[in-house]
Amino acid sequence: MVDETDLAHLRRCVELAELALSVGDEPFGSVLVDADGEVLFEDHNHVAAGDETRHPEFEIARWAAEHLTPAQRAAATVYTSGEHCPMCAAAHAWVGLGRIVYAVSSAQLTAWRDEMGLPPGPVRPLPIQEVAPGVQVDGPAPELAAQIRELHRRQHAA
Ligand SMILES: [Zn+2]
Repeated sequence: MVDETDLAHLRRCVELAELALSVGDEPFGSVLVDADGEVLFEDHNHVAAGDETRHPEFEIARWAAEHLTPAQRAAATVYTSGEHCPMCAAAHAWVGLGRIVYAVSSAQLTAWRDEMGLPPGPVRPLPIQEVAPGVQVDGPAPELAAQIRELHRRQHAA
């Protein structure tokens, strides 16, 4: 279930996605929140320079492994504008992070890519739970779908 607190963090993820697009990157943003609701770290995609692994969820996993205890990681929540890809879902699980809340699902993103006539990416868009079955996952947030879809339309209209 996605509540009002979750939505506030997801809206920040959408802002970060919009920021990424404004600096020529792909519109994805993510936020790491601790057990008390404090934002610890946030990031957006940095793949424009050529490293396609620079997803914000992957950066969050690395940051958490370096800065948080295992207990803090397990109690933390990762919010993200688009559902974790398999690479990021695996990284999330390997470092023992807790709940994930996404605004739009990989299935939605894949359907939008198809509608825009884009070829499939090199990695199969598996749901998080197929990659990391022990992670609690909530989403999507239908309130944010149109806004995120527009960011992706703008990315590919350029
Ligand atoms: Zn990813």
